[in-house]
Formats: sequence, C-alpha cells, structure tokens
Amino acid sequence: MSTQIRKVAVIGAGTMGHGIAEVSALAGYEVVMVDVSQDLLNKALERIKWSLDKFAERGTISKEKVNEVMNRIKTSLSIAEAVKNADIMIEAVPEKLDLKKQVFAEADANAPPHAILATNTSSLPITEIASATKRPERVVGIHFFNPPALMPPLVEVIKGAQTSDDIAKRAYDFVKSLGKEPIMVNKDVPGFVVNRILIALNSAACLLAANNVYSVVEIDSATKYRAGLPMGIFELQDFTGIDVGYLVGLAVAERDPMLRVPCPLIEDLYKKGWLGQKSGRGFYEYKGGPYERANIPREAGEKVDLVQIFAPAINMAAWLLRQGIASRDDIEKGVKLGLGWPKGVFEYADEFGIDKVVEALNQLYSKYGYELFKPDPLLTQMVQEGRLGQKSGRGFYEYGAVGVTEFKEIILRREPPLAWIILNRPQRLNALTLTMLEEISRALDMLWDDKEVRVVIIRGGAGDRAFSAGADVTSFQGPLHTYYFFIYNRKFQDAVNKIERFPKPVIAAIDGYALGGGLEIAMACDFRIATDRSELGQPEINLGIIPGAGGTQKLIRYVGLVGLRS
Ligand code: NAD
Repeated sequence: MSTQIRKVAVIGAGTMGHGIAEVSALAGYEVVMVDVSQDLLNKALERIKWSLDKFAERGTISKEKVNEVMNRIKTSLSIAEAVKNADIMIEAVPEKLDLKKQVFAEADANAPPHAILATNTSSLPITEIASATKRPERVVGIHFFNPPALMPPLVEVIKGAQTSDDIAKRAYDFVKSLGKEPIMVNKDVPGFVVNRILIALNSAACLLAANNVYSVVEIDSATKYRAGLPMGIFELQDFTGIDVGYLVGLAVAERDPMLRVPCPLIEDLYKKGWLGQKSGRGFYEYKGGPYERANIPREAGEKVDLVQIFAPAINMAAWLLRQGIASRDDIEKGVKLGLGWPKGVFEYADEFGIDKVVEALNQLYSKYGYELFKPDPLLTQMVQEGRLGQKSGRGFYEYGAVGVTEFKEIILRREPPLAWIILNRPQRLNALTLTMLEEISRALDMLWDDKEVRVVIIRGGAGDRAFSAGADVTSFQGPLHTYYFFIYNRKFQDAVNKIERFPKPVIAAIDGYALGGGLEIAMACDFRIATDRSELGQPEINLGIIPGAGGTQKLIRYVGLVGLRS
C-alpha cells in the first residue's frame, strides 16, 4: 500500500470502475464505489465477487481473502459522501467531457484538500477536466487498460498542464502499489503514449490495404507471424470493435492533426455496421460466432515490407521521446505491456535500421502527404550521425563494444546485466551453419569474463518464426560434404559444450520452431522458455540422422520416455 493513501473513491462502477475498485481493494485499500443507481452498484459488486472467486478457484488468492476484499468495498450513490474521507478519487464515468467536469467539480468541493483527483479517461484532455476544480495541480490521469483486474498490467499516469510533479509521483507509486506497471506520460497529448503508437501503426497498414498494395490478410499475417504481434493489425481492430476504433480515431484526430490519417476501410465497415467480431463481420467474417478467430495463414505475409508498416509507429515513438513526453524505457514498456508486443518499438527500429525507417517514411509521405509520415527530426538526425541501429552498433540502444559488424549470422547485443545472442538468418528460419556455430562460440568467449554481463539469452532474430529450424543441410553439399559434415559436427559440439560450461546462466527464449540442432542448442542452455506457438522436436531421426550434440540423452532426461512421440 502507498504510505499516503488509504481510502479510494471510485466514481462510475461500469466496465472499468468495478475493476479499478477490485484491484484497489485487493491491494488493501478501503474503497467506496459510486454509481447512479443501487442496482448498478449491486451488479458491480457481483462482478467483483465473481472475479475474486475465479482468482480463489485458481489458487491466486485464498477463499478467506475473497470475503476480506469484499468487505473493504462499500457503495454509495453520492459522490460528495464517497470522497469526504478519500485520499484519492478515480473517476471512471462515460467518456463525456461535461459529465467528467461535473464529477470533478463535485469531488473538488467535498474531498479533503490533500486528496488526489484522478481520471481514467482514454481520450479527453486531463487539463480540461482539471479546470473544473480549484486544485488542478492535484488532478492527474490514471489510465488503466481493460480489464483492470487482469492483464494487461500497464497503467499510464498522465500529467495535465498543471499537475504537480509530487502528485504525479504519488499517483505513480499508488499504481505500483496495486501491483501494476505504471509509465509516466509527462504531457497531456491525445491518445497518450500507447494509443498514439497503436493509431500510428494502424495508419500505414490501412492506407496500404486500401490502395491494394497489400491485402488485409497479408498485412495481418506479416504483423502476427513475422513481427510477432499478438494479433494482426486488422484482426485486433475486429476484436476491439470497428466502432470503438472509428470513434476514438475521430475524437483524437479532432484534437491533433498528427493523428489525422483517415482510414477509408474502417469508415466503410462502420457505415455498413460491420463492427468486427461482436457483429459477426468486420475485416473478417466470423461464421462460427463471435469467439471465432480470424483465419490468417502463416505464409500469406512473406512479401510484406514490415518496415513500411512499422515506420509510422516508430516515427510517433521518436516524436514522443524527442518531446520528452515519455522516456525510451517507458515507451518500450508501454507497447510491450499495453499492446503485448514481443519487442519495444525502438527495438524494432534498431533491427530494421533507422535509415530504412526514414526511407519508408519518406515514401509514405510523398505518396500520401500526412504529417504523421514526415520523418521526425530525431530519426533524421540519427541517420546523419550514423546511428542506424543494430547494424552500426548504435541506434536507440547501444550495442556495446561488440559491434554487430563483427558477426554475419548472429547479433550480439550487450545490455548489461543481460547479453543477447540473436540467431539472425531470418530467411532460413535461423538454420545453423558453420559460420553461425562459430559465431555463437565466439560470442560466448567474448562474454565469458565480461563482469557486467550476468545472464545470456539466446533467441531467434527478425522474422521471428523460429528459434532455429536445425542444421542448414545445404552446407553439406558438394564434393567435400563428408569433410564438411565432420567439421560441422565438431563446431556444433564446441558451441553446445561452451553453452553448457558457460559460467553464467544461459536461457533459450524460444518462439517458433526449435527443431533438430536448434533444439539441441536450446537443450544445452540452463533454461528454456517457449511461447505457446512454438514447436519443438528432433525430426531428423526420421531421416536416420542421430542428433549429434547431446540431443539423444538430453531430450529423454527433460521430457521422459512418455513425452516422446515419433
Ligand atoms: P461504462 O459505461 O462501462 O461505465 C461507466 C459507469 O459510470 C456506468 O456504470 C454509469 O452508470 C456510471 N455513471 C454515469 N454517470 C455517473 C455519475 N454522474 N456518477 C457516477 N457514476 C456515473 O464505461 P467504461 O468502459 O467503464 O469507461 C469509463 C471510463 O474509462 C471512460 O472514460 C473510458 O474512456 C475509460 N476507459 C475505458 C476503457 C474500456 O476499454 N472500456 C479502457 C480504458 C479507459
């Protein structure tokens, strides 16, 4: 619990309000929930009880805790009464400026002078809401994501024009005390950080699809399978609701010319009433009901230029960073925790190459002319200074003394206390060649005595469909194939032995295929962490090849005989 906050008043007990009340009570705060009728309040209490029971069923909390938490939540039909003893108010009434201002005026008139007044608005200006009070310095945005009681853990804390640093910090600490991950948004810009980046990501995708450069499925396949986003760009819009995206888009575009990139496809769907999953049709058809997932083939996105799709989001992130609206690490945390991206937006930028990103933006700008596509001065400056990302050893991140140019088929990224060995042959599913094996060994040698690096993580690189699909058999062709095979095996065993003997923990982060030699590399690590979609196996045994780097022994030890199937 936060030291200065004990009592929380939540105004509006709908989708967001009841969840905010629940997480606050779970963290030990005394909560009063307000809505316009007792019936709505009772429904909110029922939803909270249901959710707590689910936590108890799963063993996340004890059965006794359910009652204890419920006892901490009171209800009231009066804002004045609820805020009377509150240390913080969190408003979650519908997204209407006048209504919010009314709530804030009433809360301001009745809450103790020290109380913080927070709003959960997604798109309205905090500064404007604060103007309804006599304490604008104590008004702050606390933007939870839906559903607050579960994932995602991200919360944006937003400073209005007059919010004091102390209040923003207290709001930040309060969010932390709820077990959530706050990021600080230093300026009240429409869409804050996460939605701005999401809107920017959607923009080029939509224009490219509307102009038949790529199809919706091609873009979704590329963003989902190659870039590793949890859903394709259009699939996500169907999931959240075409109406929600369309209306939020209009609202933010009205306030900010940078966000004015109309999407003809969305407008068309909205007008037709094809609102996505919930109405059985949006970008995709959902014949099997609203819970059916869109059918997006893995191979469909091969030809899509991901740099073009991501460039506006990177441009937006650069703008946020240059304006001091959020720090690099908070922006990265925002997209990872708020949007479920496997990598930060700046990590993508560094992987693509900043020069490539600027090139893509220039193309988009000359074709479509929207302000969002004009390369941000930060990006152009980086290009001028040769800070091009991983390939130059420096971009948004430093890649340490070990320049990537030293390696051809892996990327060694040194971010003390971590170091990443990224297998980097995306076109060949990171299949292991002699060069790659040598480079893995060499990278481990370099990190062996590195005092600052405490953990090494091995993972697949851009392309993201594989950790490694195994040995690259094409390197065994030709007259000297037996010789090469022998050398290859030696190098392979060298690399595996080195991973095993490495004096610090080595983790295999597996996303996609880890087959044959790829799995053997993973099995040599101290830990293996794999995503649900990963496929692990030793299919080479079907060709009569015996895994030569400890695979036969290790696999059986890790999964047992029962775990094996041909
Ligand atoms: P909701 O419609 O589910 O809930 C709003 C609740 O406020 C309703 O129960 C309503 O009866 C109550 N209410 C209306 N007038 C009131 C008043 N004068 N006093 C007290 N209660 C009143 O809306 P929601 O989805 O929970 O959204 C609430 C806020 O959270 C909005 O600002 C929205 O932009 C923001 N938000 C929503 C989401 C989301 O995904 N739903 C995510 C992040 C932020």
